[in-house]
Amino acid sequence: MYDWLIVGAGFAGSVLAERLAGERNERVLLIDRRPHIGGNAYDRYDDDGLLIHQYGPHIFHTNSKQIFDYLSRFTEWRFYEHRVLAEVDGMLVPIPINLDTVNKLYGLNLTSEQLQDWFAERAETIGEIKTSEDVVVSVVGRELYEKFFRGYTRKQWGLDPSELDKSVTSRVPTRTNRDDRYFTDEFQFMPKHGYTRMFEKMVGHPNIDIMTQTEYDDVKNVIPHRRVIYCGPIDEYFNFQFGKLPYRSLRFEHVTLDKAWHQPVGVVNFPQTNDYTRVTEYKHLTGQEHAKTALTYEYPSAEGDPYYPIPKAENQELFKKYERLALATPDVWFVGRLATYRYYNMDQIVGQALATFRRINESLPVGADT
Ligand code: FAD
Ligand code: UDP
Repeated sequence: MYDWLIVGAGFAGSVLAERLAGERNERVLLIDRRPHIGGNAYDRYDDDGLLIHQYGPHIFHTNSKQIFDYLSRFTEWRFYEHRVLAEVDGMLVPIPINLDTVNKLYGLNLTSEQLQDWFAERAETIGEIKTSEDVVVSVVGRELYEKFFRGYTRKQWGLDPSELDKSVTSRVPTRTNRDDRYFTDEFQFMPKHGYTRMFEKMVGHPNIDIMTQTEYDDVKNVIPHRRVIYCGPIDEYFNFQFGKLPYRSLRFEHVTLDKAWHQPVGVVNFPQTNDYTRVTEYKHLTGQEHAKTALTYEYPSAEGDPYYPIPKAENQELFKKYERLALATPDVWFVGRLATYRYYNMDQIVGQALATFRRINESLPVGADT
């Protein structure tokens, strides 16, 4: 008899497996339908020995010392600050939009103060900022919005920014200084030996059994367990009874080139051209030295594995219906990006899993079942 059946071996499921096995000394069965642990953060060496991210670029960043310290138990780190360029009007310029972006794009020589005025002259006045279009046009105006955000967002989500919640493009700030880092978080690192190694350490406790290529439906009535942590799509758990929750998918094209470098930074975004949104060159992220280089092209798609919950009011309403069912389901805890339908980064998922562990401790005293 397992104390816990954990469905999904990504950050949510793996953190909880580690906590429950390590801190509560309970027996855990961790399953995943994929042939590996790590969820979307899974990385692997390709045929040429280059470390790549199977499901697109994953850069760890957080402002939480607690979350950083927790993960530091399972990995050493490589300092890495992510930089992204966007190909706009045939030029490669920094995104988030900053002083250099505007100066380069328009052949100007503005100072930070002058750029503030330049933005103010172009910004549109919007009563209440609601959509992903509002967020951008209210700060930089329509022209830059169209160059950098409109096309990219339509490709990535299959929706116009005016149809998406403001939280989506709010992820990308606008700067009047020359800071060209994608993130400004206090802690920005890559796991020194990769994510998969970090996961292996996290779930290596003898109280944890792991089964990959295993569907929840195939084991739920077969393998005895007391409680469930479910990290898959919440609508799937409830047999889509209120209809399908929309998730956006991606197709990843992994390519290895017989040359040392392809592009000047880890990621180049393509808001105006091509069917793919961005190209990642992993050696920038991993620091690996190799005569060849590995890239991933991301093609957004409506079909395929669920990668992104789609932040939109009507989707949130549908999610709330499922959430009400989830709250009324005893002995099952719903955790993670798919089960809570939240566009969360890795650190936020770790935080959510650690908070769930605290709630489990509050409601279930250790040894209550035995
Ligand atoms: P997942 O990693 O999706 O794990 C859920 C697991 O559950 C999956 O492995 C799935 O196979 C399994 N599963 C589902 N249903 C079942 C079932 N019925 N039976 C068995 N197994 C099941 N975050 C960052 O912080 N930085 C980044 O740079 C970053 N880049 C990203 C890039 C892309 C392209 C994507 C898609 C996400 C990115 N993220 C990034 C977000 C990050 O991937 C997530 O926050 C994190 O991986 C979520 O962990 P999770 O455990 O909730 O879900
Ligand atoms: N975005 C954009 N142009 C860019 C970068 C981002 O329009 O060059 C928008 C787009 O809608 C994207 C969102 O901002 O989905 C969030 O970007 P982020 O890089 O955080 O996306 P993620 O890494 O989560 O895919």
